[in-house]
Amino acid sequence: TLSPHHGSDAATLLRHADQAMYVAKQAGRNRHHLFDPEKDRRARRRREDITRIGQGLAAGEFVLHYQPKVDMRQGRVVGAEALIRWQHPQRGLLPPQEFLPAIEGSETAIELGNWVIATALEQLSSWAAAGIDLKLSINIAGEHLQHPGFAAELGRQLAAHPELDPSRLELEVLETAAIEDVGRVAQLFTKCRQLGVSFALDDFGTGYSSLTYFRRLPAEILKIDQSFVRDMLDDPEDLAIVEGVIGLTRAFHRQVIAEGVESIEHGLVLLLLGCDLAQGFGIARPMPAARLPQWMAEFRPDELWSSASAFTWAREDLPMLIAEVDHRRWMKQLEASLAAAPEDAPSVDLDHQACGFGRWYQGLGRKRYGGMPTFAAIDPIHQRLHAVARQMLDQHQAGSEESLADCWEMMHGASREMSELLQQ
Ligand code: C2E
Ligand code: MG
Ligand code: MG
Repeated sequence: TLSPHHGSDAATLLRHADQAMYVAKQAGRNRHHLFDPEKDRRARRRREDITRIGQGLAAGEFVLHYQPKVDMRQGRVVGAEALIRWQHPQRGLLPPQEFLPAIEGSETAIELGNWVIATALEQLSSWAAAGIDLKLSINIAGEHLQHPGFAAELGRQLAAHPELDPSRLELEVLETAAIEDVGRVAQLFTKCRQLGVSFALDDFGTGYSSLTYFRRLPAEILKIDQSFVRDMLDDPEDLAIVEGVIGLTRAFHRQVIAEGVESIEHGLVLLLLGCDLAQGFGIARPMPAARLPQWMAEFRPDELWSSASAFTWAREDLPMLIAEVDHRRWMKQLEASLAAAPEDAPSVDLDHQACGFGRWYQGLGRKRYGGMPTFAAIDPIHQRLHAVARQMLDQHQAGSEESLADCWEMMHGASREMSELLQQ
């Protein structure tokens, strides 16, 4: 350690030198290591954060909010996910990413995790007593699950609630969490399942070895990560991933739920793809426990969903769904282009045979639906969309924006018309 840069009194220098020596020994000895003041500051911050969170836990500052999960096909609420929040006396209600990373790897993380289990069971119990029948999911950090004694602690907590059926509790495990030894974790799953609880793999699709986890961990349900779900209406590749994950769960006889369902349309597409369970802001945001019973009583599924459930959808029709998403993205690109200054406007594919939708129409679409009159009726509308788009971009280039509103009205009308024909 350097003096006076890193502190000038003897006690501080000795403490720093001791820390550096410790690092050198940890790194395998027979080497030197220079004390890093920045790292020291970070470590001190971390200790303070952990202490503060521990105090918050003791002071009852943490709460669980609950986000409903619904079966869109049957139109009913099937459960809720408990999500932790910190009701911080100065900073207000904090989401988990504001405090969970700070305690990663500490004993406090385990204590907080155990508090979540206890609180969720209390809540389930009081709901059950009030006649509210639902399944509750809690999030379990990988390090908590792998902590020695996890299953024993879970068993102890469940035993404290003999009135509850343990199958009401589901553990959502972040598959990206530090699961080093899949074999060991699979055993842990089995042990906990013997207690009656079930498992879900959270954020599926984002981990490095998703498929290994999927095959080797005995989890009943898989949660498609919200990043794919959220963007699937604008991004054909995300849509294909969502479809692939759903197909995978079907082949392996697992259940599947989508998170991040932000709109009714997201739900509709998921239903068409065969995923009935959903959770997301488009259905409900996480809410305090006291609000959930009323929300459940008032919940009505969207009419669009029941229309989607009314007919069966063949896998071969998926490219059409993707083509429609392509079309919607194209509309968004046009919008972005018209909003930007003419010189740096992003380009829009104006050739009606070269855009994503056009390629589907000329290719796979024609092959599968070419004989249908409704299919032929799509072409002139699609061409009109491109013609009007060209006109709009020309006007934008020329700096005249007057008739753009009329053009947009025409575009949206044509786009709707096209969607209706596609549905037919
Ligand atoms: P998660 O388990 O994947 O939970 C879903 C997150 O997505 C929640 O964020 C939820 O509020 C949010 N969400 C739900 N629907 C939508 C939607 O339609 N759009 C968008 N943009 N977001 C949506 P939250 O509550 O901030 O939690 C973030 C993460 O923190 C959770 O992700 C989970 O990994 C972790 N977490 C939450 N509570 C706990 C807990 O009690 N223990 C542990 N270990 N981790 C927790
Ligand atoms: Mg979760
Ligand atoms: Mg998730």
